[in-house]
Amino acid sequence: MKKYPWGALWFVGTDAEHRFHNRLYQVLSGTRRMMGLLPTGLGPTGQTPLVSLFWSLGARSLEQWRAAGLLPWKEEILRFAPEAAPLLEQIQSADQVLFAEYHDVVMAQWNTDDVVYLGDAAHATSPQLGQGCNLALVDAQVLAQCLAVSDALPLALDAYSRTRDAHLDYYQFATRWLTPFFQSDLTWLAPLRDFGMPIATRVPWVRRQMVTAMCGNALWPLTGTLPLETRPLALAAQNG
Ligand SMILES: Cc1cc2nc3c(=O)[nH]c(=O)nc-3n(C[C@H](O)[C@H](O)[C@H](O)COP(=O)(O)OP(=O)(O)OC[C@H]3O[C@@H](n4cnc5c(N)ncnc54)[C@H](O)[C@@H]3O)c2cc1C
Repeated sequence: MKKYPWGALWFVGTDAEHRFHNRLYQVLSGTRRMMGLLPTGLGPTGQTPLVSLFWSLGARSLEQWRAAGLLPWKEEILRFAPEAAPLLEQIQSADQVLFAEYHDVVMAQWNTDDVVYLGDAAHATSPQLGQGCNLALVDAQVLAQCLAVSDALPLALDAYSRTRDAHLDYYQFATRWLTPFFQSDLTWLAPLRDFGMPIATRVPWVRRQMVTAMCGNALWPLTGTLPLETRPLALAAQNG
């Protein structure tokens, strides 16, 4: 398990006026500044629209951020992305803001004869592609399928690891490769990103691969996609 040197300040606020409904809003400048507003469901009561504000921060700068107090941080975000104002108004204390750290978890094998690792415990990545929940859902579905068709636990767990290989390999590789373009000290990657992304989305094959990846259905190598019955959208629909 390797800790990523960058993370994000994270605040979950309310969105009573549905300003940020159904849409991820993200503003980037270089590879060191990023602000995002992410719709985050309806909370435990199912009645309150929530939205997450995240702000990219290197782990090494966390203490400096705390020492400076909230005002300069709020001012910087407002200059950078004024849309964040309704969220910033809800933050009165640094204790309301979490620092979310990312870990890169790589395991040589996800199972032994009687233990299996699923979800982030098996393959946490940075959340750049936003696929962690999808991967964990598909893990659970495939494990259930493997247990249902095998009487011997070790065989079921081996089958699970084999079945998950192509999907997890793709997302671990793609996330590790993409993250420095969005959060890192490699500032020269930002012009490549800003120049290359709009072009890439106009090339039909690349565009198709990008959409497949964002839907959570991509496999390594890029010759197939996840079977229909284990696609994240199908699982979400089954679970209501
Ligand atoms: C900042 C950030 C943003 C993210 N954004 C997205 C996104 O937009 N989309 C997306 O799909 N994914 C996102 N992810 C990733 C996503 O949150 C994870 O991939 C997903 O939650 C993994 O699910 P999990 O069940 O494996 O682990 P978790 O959700 O971490 O669940 C593990 C649970 O086990 C509990 N636990 C831990 N230790 C013990 C113990 N000893 N005993 C009992 N219980 C224990 C924990 O409290 C926790 O409730 C993000 C992650 C981060 C950090």
